[in-house]
Amino acid sequence: MKILFLDQSGKPGGAELCLIDIAKPYQNDCLVGLFADGSFKDLLAKNHIPVQVLTDKTIQVKKESSFSQGLASITQLAPLIAKVVKIARNYDLIYANTQKALVVGAIASFFSRRPLVFHLHDILSPEHFSKTNRNISVALANRASLVIVNSEASKKAFIEAGGKAELVEIVYNGFDPQKYINNETEIQQVRQKLELEDKFIVGHFSRLAPWKGQHILIEALAKCPSEVTVILVGDALFGEQDYVKQLHQQIDQLKLQNRVKFLGFRNDIPLLMAACDLVAHTSTSPEPFGRVIVEAMLSGTPVVAAASGGAVELVEPGINGFLATPGNPSELTEIINTCIQDKQKTDAIAQEARNSASQRFHVANIDRQIAQLLEQLSVSS
Ligand code: UDP
Repeated sequence: MKILFLDQSGKPGGAELCLIDIAKPYQNDCLVGLFADGSFKDLLAKNHIPVQVLTDKTIQVKKESSFSQGLASITQLAPLIAKVVKIARNYDLIYANTQKALVVGAIASFFSRRPLVFHLHDILSPEHFSKTNRNISVALANRASLVIVNSEASKKAFIEAGGKAELVEIVYNGFDPQKYINNETEIQQVRQKLELEDKFIVGHFSRLAPWKGQHILIEALAKCPSEVTVILVGDALFGEQDYVKQLHQQIDQLKLQNRVKFLGFRNDIPLLMAACDLVAHTSTSPEPFGRVIVEAMLSGTPVVAAASGGAVELVEPGINGFLATPGNPSELTEIINTCIQDKQKTDAIAQEARNSASQRFHVANIDRQIAQLLEQLSVSS
């Protein structure tokens, strides 16, 4: 099956990293068309997945855009759509991986007469999207042959927003457990390099954005014993510079300059996670899936996640991790303290998490699920 994947982003967020795993089995017969240049293109090329940047124009529409802004952007998109229609004629299927890719993919699917699959990585709720954008997304997704969602939470929000339940299949993100096995020497070297050998390291691995809640972890840190240090791994991928400034101000006010390190965007996540004593996920709005939660489990590091959205499907508190109320720094402090004090129990939880996540989220199972869904589609079309 020849697949034309579409993704709007030049930078590798969670949806893009997931797409690498989905496109890989089709690498001899697919193309990933991007709507922006950047490091995601390089990552795809490194994974031997054919990739082409389809436009050099920035698409203006934002998650909170109004109807008129949305409409204006569709006229802007005309040359890109024409290009996608032409390319799609050489493929069996259009696979839209992001919201803007859905807009382009749905129109191109109509003109090229190729079936459309939409992979929804978002929770279509008012917290994340304007009403206009939710309506556009659902109206277009309802024309697809299949909507793959990344969690029960994303499915529920899609249906509540008017999405057709019969189109939806849940497929969790997949991971190769081998990539998360590190040797002890390397782990100790990372801790040394960070000059944190004797500290209790709490790692936060997310782009820097208000709803990812790095500020909640910093607030929690202020009440933790002095050996606790935070590393913030990730960058402001989508221009959230004001938030980065706020984080620095908060750290200065709380006099935590020596206990928080900003590491920027990194490509060595498994090793960095293994070097942490705890991974904290602190999103203040419901997380559609939460790749970092599963990655922490696979790295053998205990994880505390904000109890909302897809995260509650991943974490069983006290069994394979910890859950804290979103936006509640005191609960987070308490859990950090529990992890420091009861290392034996925490290690057992991390071990259980590693074992179960290696099965449940194995990329081979996830690829098999996607292949079956796409095959059914080609049989019925
Ligand atoms: N990530 C990364 N480098 C960084 C920070 C994050 O590669 O410096 C990865 C992280 O390991 C995860 C993804 O970015 O795989 C983020 O996915 P998640 O589902 O947690 O959040 P999203 O970005 O999709 O909202």
